[in-house]
Amino acid sequence: MQRVLQIFVLGLLLLWPLGKHLNAADLRSALRDGLKDLDARKGETGLCVLTDASYVIINGKTTEPLVDLIREETGCTVGKGNMLFFHRPIHHPLKIAIFRKSTEECVVVRYDGKRIDRHKYDFGEEAVAKSLFWQKTDALLEQDKYTIVSIARVWAADAPYDLLKCVDFHGHLCPGIFAGYMVARYIPKTYPLKKGEAYIWIASPLWCKDDAIQVLLDLTAGKKDIYPIALTTSQKKELTFENPVGFLIVWNKEKKTGKGVVFSFAWDKVRKKGKLQTVLNLLGYVEKPEELVSVVKECEVPPGIMEKLKTKETNPYRWLGLTK
Ligand SMILES: [Zn+2]
Repeated sequence: MQRVLQIFVLGLLLLWPLGKHLNAADLRSALRDGLKDLDARKGETGLCVLTDASYVIINGKTTEPLVDLIREETGCTVGKGNMLFFHRPIHHPLKIAIFRKSTEECVVVRYDGKRIDRHKYDFGEEAVAKSLFWQKTDALLEQDKYTIVSIARVWAADAPYDLLKCVDFHGHLCPGIFAGYMVARYIPKTYPLKKGEAYIWIASPLWCKDDAIQVLLDLTAGKKDIYPIALTTSQKKELTFENPVGFLIVWNKEKKTGKGVVFSFAWDKVRKKGKLQTVLNLLGYVEKPEELVSVVKECEVPPGIMEKLKTKETNPYRWLGLTK
């Protein structure tokens, strides 16, 4: 009887992680097989994992336990900067990509709650330069193809971790989020806050860069310290300067006054033929954002600007005298 009980308890212990952590045993073996596909060993340098685990929900369960499972199987960790995330909606399938820098090969595991698929890809420069690589539909990578390829390649090119945090939130790596990263790095260095001051960001025109401003400067629409104001094509044509990024208000809450700074970004210096090539080119400017970010105008913010921001009725650059 005791023996039967022992077997029963052992059985429960073996089954318990499966129930709690999704199809954990199968995922573990998929990751182990993935490492074998790459001819790689757990914990070796030059390995990187990209995943939407912790964002997606599979079979009604949140997926943060899988982050530990991935760490245990691959040796990649957040602390080492080689466990990277990309934001996906809760209904998206689970994706785990293991990238090996030395061979530029990547194994991608996909799990939708029913079946686990795994495939090895060549993410080398030559392979991804072919238009066929991008045109080919792929049931496993799906719409995550560009995200996974681009993050893996910039990680291998020593992209800074805070840039990859912005990319995580934004969900893909594009020249726009990179431009926002450069502006966000430039702001506290050039306009440090004094006592009683806070940043307010006028995201106008609205594009990818504003997500990097949110992440690095902790400014959000919900907290009302970022104001997204889209511009129409004709409103953009009205501007007296090129490549607008947005404008910053260094706001003194007590005095109810602030300094306004309008920024532009030197796309002409860095733009290459493709998105990924532009991003890789931008990496060369990480330590010198001032070469790409320029100040169009500094001014005292006009009285009543905070009220105007709430109405959003017109081109905000008009208030600053930057329209034709
Ligand atoms: Zn983008």
